[in-house]
Amino acid sequence: MIFEGLAEKLQNTLGKLKSKGKLNEKDVKDAMREVKLALLEADVNFKVVKEFVNKVKERAVGQEVMESLTPGQHVIKIVNEELTDLMGNVQSKISFASKPPTVIMLVGLQGAGKTTTGGKLGGLLKKQGKKPLLVACDVYRPAAIKQLQVVGNQLEIPVFSMGDKESPVNIAKEGINHALSHNNDVVIIDTAGRLHIDELLMDELKNIKTEVKPHEILLVIDSMTGQDAVNVAENFNEALGIDGVVLTKLDGDTRGGAALSVRSVTRKPIKFIGMGEKLDDLEAFHPDRMASRILGMGDVLSLIEKAEQAIDVKKAKELEAKIKNQEFDFEDFLTQMEQVKNLGPLNKIMEMIPGMSGSKELKNLSFDDKEIRRIEAIIKSMTKKERRDPSILNASRRRRIANGSGTKVHEVNRLVKQFEQTKKMMKQFGNLEKSMKKGGKMK
Ligand code: GDP
Repeated sequence: MIFEGLAEKLQNTLGKLKSKGKLNEKDVKDAMREVKLALLEADVNFKVVKEFVNKVKERAVGQEVMESLTPGQHVIKIVNEELTDLMGNVQSKISFASKPPTVIMLVGLQGAGKTTTGGKLGGLLKKQGKKPLLVACDVYRPAAIKQLQVVGNQLEIPVFSMGDKESPVNIAKEGINHALSHNNDVVIIDTAGRLHIDELLMDELKNIKTEVKPHEILLVIDSMTGQDAVNVAENFNEALGIDGVVLTKLDGDTRGGAALSVRSVTRKPIKFIGMGEKLDDLEAFHPDRMASRILGMGDVLSLIEKAEQAIDVKKAKELEAKIKNQEFDFEDFLTQMEQVKNLGPLNKIMEMIPGMSGSKELKNLSFDDKEIRRIEAIIKSMTKKERRDPSILNASRRRRIANGSGTKVHEVNRLVKQFEQTKKMMKQFGNLEKSMKKGGKMK
């Protein structure tokens, strides 16, 4: 998961505070030392860490916290607020031009994910009802134009290119003309990158900027490169002036330092995050939701948004009724699994549920098509009675089901266990819903 190491350490440290009845200054200081180390290990910029910890410390040793009945909770709330603040506080959106087309210029080093992000962003905007045009200005990297065309094709978004013999400035200008005459209200310019920042690259980007006056210059940086990404951001911002950052590869094994430092160092907001290689793996960045995820408080809002896109409401309603009446059985499980599959990898979903992010047994749950088919076969080999009431599944029944479905007994066992876990999870959802209806706050 994103920020795995950091999240675990912060949650441990803050969890210890929570379990204490009263806090004194030393408790807070000790905890802040651990928070500091955790942030440094996550590759957060040293200055940023220092400032952050000082701010939290100052607020946490205040009278209000010390005298409160739940000082630990209070400190966690402060850390959450300061983390949110660190990442820019509120969501930073693209500012669209009053007179279309809105021109968005993507810049960044080679391999950061510009071309992919160009496509993803086009896809995202298309879903919002825009008519984007992708413009291929990377005339140096072999196959960059082709790559953009492939991406555009997949998303059914037009791509404007003039081959690799024209100057990028001309291509950008012609691209905008093309957009004007073809009713495209957003132009996304994919520019060339280099392995390192050099003057030639910056000059070219500056030329494009001067000529086409983009409404948004978005810098694409690779979160896996940690502090380097932040240095790159600083350099680009100084030389070119950027409006925001797209942080890619947050799905990878990143420690998260870039996400936590870049706003503070450059004063420019992260606008989007890349969460995978697939073309719909780009999300708007919400600092508050990310802070909650880091602290294991879940991200229910993102989960709801995802669910609204992926879930068939009618089926969900039927399922809800069944769960309420305790009628949820294996066939429903199958339906539900298919819907969950639409949501994406299950471990990503788990991170969004409060209290679930640290759950070890759920961590490795994931479904792929093959597994869905296998599960289907197992469920279909059960009798009606067994599907209704899995508790009657003794060893000989399980053996029969494994034989019937061409699977192994341990696979049947695993499925039954997953079923029980899902039921348990649903109970938790039910409780969550109840407490929300009561107007209680989620912890
Ligand atoms: P460019 O040189 O900046 O245009 O970079 P590309 O768009 O060609 O991306 C470089 C590599 O990073 C490609 O293999 C992409 O699939 C991959 N990539 C881009 N964004 C993401 C992301 O958010 N997550 C992951 N896992 N890979 C990404």
